Amino acid sequence: MTTAQDLPGTETLTIDDLDVPVVSANTVVVGTGSAGFCAADRLWELGQEDVVMVTDKVGAGASRNAGSDKQTYYKLTLSGGDGDSVHEMAQTLFSGGAMDGDNALAEAALSARCFLRLCDLGVPFPQNRYGEFIGYKTDHDPRRRATSVGPYTSRSMVQQLEKKVARNGTPIYDNCRVIDLIVRGEGAEAQIAGLLVLRTDVPHDGQRSPYLLLRCANIVYATGGPAGIYATRVFPNGQWGASGAAYRAGVHGKGVTEWQFGLASIKPRWNVSGTYMQVIPRFVSTDADGGDEREFLTEVIGDYGRLMSLVFLKGYQWPFDVRKARDGSSLIDLLVYRETVLRGRRVFLDFRSNPVRETFDHEELEPEAREYLEKAGVLFGTPIERLRAMNEPAYQFYLDKNPYVDLEQEMLEVDVCAQHNNGGLLVDRWWQSNVAGFFPVGEAGGAHGVYRPGGSALNSGQVGATRAAQFIAARRTEDPLGTEEFAAAAAPVLAGARSLAEVASDRAAAGTPDNTGELLTAVQELMSAKAGPVRSADSIAEALAQVHTWLTGYSELVSADATSRRSMNRTFLVRDILTTAYIYLSAMADYVAHGGRSRGSVLYTDPAGDLPLVGYGPHAEQELDLPELFRFSLDGGELAGQVQETAWLAPVGTPGASVGAQAPSEAPVTEPAFAAAAERDSTDPAGQPVFRWRPVRPIPADDDFFENVWREYREHGNVY
Ligand SMILES: Cc1cc2nc3c(=O)[nH]c(=O)nc-3n(C[C@H](O)[C@H](O)[C@H](O)COP(=O)(O)OP(=O)(O)OC[C@H]3O[C@@H](n4cnc5c(N)ncnc54)[C@H](O)[C@@H]3O)c2cc1C
Repeated sequence: MTTAQDLPGTETLTIDDLDVPVVSANTVVVGTGSAGFCAADRLWELGQEDVVMVTDKVGAGASRNAGSDKQTYYKLTLSGGDGDSVHEMAQTLFSGGAMDGDNALAEAALSARCFLRLCDLGVPFPQNRYGEFIGYKTDHDPRRRATSVGPYTSRSMVQQLEKKVARNGTPIYDNCRVIDLIVRGEGAEAQIAGLLVLRTDVPHDGQRSPYLLLRCANIVYATGGPAGIYATRVFPNGQWGASGAAYRAGVHGKGVTEWQFGLASIKPRWNVSGTYMQVIPRFVSTDADGGDEREFLTEVIGDYGRLMSLVFLKGYQWPFDVRKARDGSSLIDLLVYRETVLRGRRVFLDFRSNPVRETFDHEELEPEAREYLEKAGVLFGTPIERLRAMNEPAYQFYLDKNPYVDLEQEMLEVDVCAQHNNGGLLVDRWWQSNVAGFFPVGEAGGAHGVYRPGGSALNSGQVGATRAAQFIAARRTEDPLGTEEFAAAAAPVLAGARSLAEVASDRAAAGTPDNTGELLTAVQELMSAKAGPVRSADSIAEALAQVHTWLTGYSELVSADATSRRSMNRTFLVRDILTTAYIYLSAMADYVAHGGRSRGSVLYTDPAGDLPLVGYGPHAEQELDLPELFRFSLDGGELAGQVQETAWLAPVGTPGASVGAQAPSEAPVTEPAFAAAAERDSTDPAGQPVFRWRPVRPIPADDDFFENVWREYREHGNVY
């Protein structure tokens, strides 16, 4: 092998007459968000310095570019006289439902360690003069475990971790879009061998290979949530995710149906939680052109004090929670959804004037809201006056954006947006997936359950990254595959990618207009309309049929202009998104077939259920006049003790397709087989998603007698 001219640290491997640069390392960390940087640094600190990072855009990702009024980090109590314990915190996390107990315990056990590490690296979490990290209470939090740096908590984490990784000297390969994993072996024997990425800065002009191969023994997959499957999202621009590649390679998923949706501005993308709601702005909808303005909440919520109180509550009841859709604040999300999705209108927050009446008649507020605003000294004026009095930075925030929004002068467009995927790729207690050497961490991994305390995503990312690094540094120190074996494993994957790029560009050259942008928008809009916060068996089936058609015929459909790097990039991106959407929709259909009902941040239409209720006064129990789509019944925790696992079985003979999907006969005896796999339609070019439901792993009750633990650790190091 020789060194590629334009990429330091690479060698060149000739596969099927193409010279492809290859980077070799013990571990490749994919993604430069808070989880990825944490993993890279931990590996280095633990003595595994043979690490490289790759990413599609080093400045992209949710950690660096997303936040909220007060972006939260969830950790063990580290202040005051409040009691707390590792087990109690684990119990809080576990009680969200459909979460594995060993992940909950690890997230609690490593919480303080990971948090203090960030403090030591320079993340300015507020402390008092004695060094206590005073916390506040966040959603689904029985204590006061939450803390925050301000709107940009996760950005601050990324910045400090990034500096540390730079000091370590770990190389980062930027502009690398994940195409496919390279896996060797089948079923339980599946092992990671490497990764194929597209270099998005290299033209497809035959001069240089636009492909880069990574040869490694481990991959820490920190590609974030699969944000690209939804059009209506508050994930920042440029955060796509790369989950489809993992499924195609046989990595299983877990709880993928569980997302968080909530109210967010769409230009710029930002959660309108906290003060933005507590100051009680006016909710206005218009037609597509901005005409026919109306205050739509009053159509359903007739009582003035009730309307204002529900808007206030959205401040700290931010995510759409179907349990609060019956007679609580999540009704607001449903009414916004009705305007935007069902009526095709646009929704804005107007801070310039009060809802319904010119004056702010605060004595009609419910006590919780009135007392809070009274304490804050803002029982006066207009929403913008209250906002600036309570939280001036929240006003300044929109002024600082490009394009900026001056809330004094104009309205802010909002929608019910996808914000976080609680499920994701399967992880065990060391955050290793079912494919040996493949560790999904951060939002790409599926460590959470149905509900989770606000801020636990950031904690989970740090803990998962640390656990994966510990395991790799202790147990997976081997060299990557030898060159020849690697070339043999990479060849079909590379051939698959080249063939897709070729058919797409040939089609464009033959005159079919480039359709990559169109396909991208079409799948995203379909997912938001049919499989977002409100779903029904019919809408899921409709979207599934369409996505299946696109995916089945993808190579006969896609047309990409070879002179456009963006189009070639999108050729792979759209395939990844279609694969993910196909798996997610199939999982939703399976959830409904399994008897799953509304829970978390999703309303599943149920004709036998109820519509949201009036919720106050003499007619409190009466159903509201709302679309039948909003008729639902709560799951009531029935499936909280079970986890839905997903696998994608590759069509036989597809070049570069999965070799690792676990066939039912190979399922561990303790776990049920994947359903429907026996009747596998091996020729379906879209592959076949299959499912199994298993009990959650309980919170482990280990021996906690020190002498025993010490001896075991000393003599066998057998925590791994
Ligand atoms: C608006 C908003 C507010 C939030 N508020 C909170 C909060 O208050 N508390 C909390 O705990 N969590 C919150 N979250 C969630 C939390 O921010 C994310 O879960 C977390 O930052 C994810 O970190 P990560 O490192 O896993 O992924 P990310 O930070 O998203 O990083 C992903 C990385 O992978 C790269 N990448 C993506 N796709 C590809 C690809 N195809 N090929 C190559 N590279 C790729 C990206 O460029 C990026 O470098 C919020 C999220 C949003 C959107």
